[in-house]
Amino acid sequence: MSGAPQHDAQKTFYLETFGCQMNAHDSEKVVGTLVQEGYRQVGTVEQADLVLYNTCSIRDKAEQKVFNRLSDYKKYKKQGKTFGVLGCVAQQEGEKIFERTPYVSLVCGSASYRNLPNMLIQIEAGNQRVTGLDDRKTDECFETEFTARTNPHRGYITIIEGCDKFCAYCVVPYTRGKERSRTSESVLAEAHQMADLGYTEIQLLGQNVNSYKDPEGKSGFPKNSKKTFAELLAAVGEVPGIRRVRFTTSHPRDFGRDIVDAIDAVPTLCDHVHLPVQSGSTRVLDAMQRLYNRDQYLERITWMRSAKREISITTDVIVGFPGETESDFAATLDLLDEVGYDAVFAFKYSPRPNTPSLSMEDAIPDAEKARRLEVLMSKQRDIQTTRYKKYIGTICEVMVEAKNEARSQLIGRTTHNKTLNFTAPEALQPGTYAPVRVTGSFPNSLLGELVI
Ligand code: SAM
Ligand code: SF4
Repeated sequence: MSGAPQHDAQKTFYLETFGCQMNAHDSEKVVGTLVQEGYRQVGTVEQADLVLYNTCSIRDKAEQKVFNRLSDYKKYKKQGKTFGVLGCVAQQEGEKIFERTPYVSLVCGSASYRNLPNMLIQIEAGNQRVTGLDDRKTDECFETEFTARTNPHRGYITIIEGCDKFCAYCVVPYTRGKERSRTSESVLAEAHQMADLGYTEIQLLGQNVNSYKDPEGKSGFPKNSKKTFAELLAAVGEVPGIRRVRFTTSHPRDFGRDIVDAIDAVPTLCDHVHLPVQSGSTRVLDAMQRLYNRDQYLERITWMRSAKREISITTDVIVGFPGETESDFAATLDLLDEVGYDAVFAFKYSPRPNTPSLSMEDAIPDAEKARRLEVLMSKQRDIQTTRYKKYIGTICEVMVEAKNEARSQLIGRTTHNKTLNFTAPEALQPGTYAPVRVTGSFPNSLLGELVI
């Protein structure tokens, strides 16, 4: 894909990444861009000329952690290294980063990554204050053919960037900018290119993948070739060579029955949907500005439960949102029973800069948030123990991910996105697909043996 670097091969960079899959994939694109610009990636700060830190600010005191880490880097400045802060904390704190840490030369939010080559030129010219902070209203996505994917079998494709939903607790619309989709033409071209390179699993990425809106194609594609999200999903699933397609994250408001129809119709679409609910209480959902109520959420679950294949459903929950009462929390616990999730990612509500919920009354004390989190996770552990047991005796196809030498097991992943550790007479290479009989279960994984 990429030609040989055109510039000084000695320029080196080190990149550290925090946060979600979007950040991980952004970093793959940033690495590809830097390599194309003549830089070489190195494994330690000591070896690097340029030190980049791709940050996340979704929860906790992320900005404080970034400043703490940057103060660790201070000692390296004397060695002539250049420092850059990328991602959500960069966008959120902006030029304040230069004031608090004057040895940082680059502050760049994710909406500006497509301008990185230009920013690198400015840095190389000795500019001490290079910013990429003004692109949150852009319609452009960060598209590059130089993505440095770290896994040779499974790869991400971003289909939509930013978010227009403005949930009351969330920084994403402020840090990642307005919602903008790539053309289906460009997404499909990337999927074909990945299949040609030997990838068999594709994960479509976006803060809300199913809010996807196919823009006008640049190369004059006829209007009627525009695709809905479900159509795009099906089309990626039909790319020759692709055996598995996943997508994350889906927003319940925009989750249509057509997505379930696509899963029914296209066997390569995985039997798994991540549909964050955040709360089981309509009152709290309203305060969170989630744009759906409990019944509407459960309606989507009913659609999935009536699919031809059993779809594994996972979710995100926030406990202790301002004003969440015991009975609101009980409604969330009750929802866990009603849905029967295969995994729940639960978080204590974390007040975030610039968000409307920051100034809401009735904050829940941290100890109470911690208690609710523990109660919820313990309940979910029980639910998963029961749900995972049901797989015992069944045969699941896995994609081999790695070998666990210590246990003499292979680590596989099922279409339901479950980890299935199994034994086999001889090692199978990562990326291999194999049938495995499930012989045991735990709350978070399955155990099995290769079917010979
Ligand atoms: N767009 C997705 C959606 O609407 O469900 C979620 C994307 S967000 C990056 C991932 C998860 O982080 C959310 O689902 C939510 O549970 C959690 N999250 C976001 N802001 C939070 C906050 N202020 N405190 C705690 N958890 C938060
Ligand atoms: Fe954040 Fe809500 Fe947008 Fe998800 S939909 S990224 S939670 S604002």
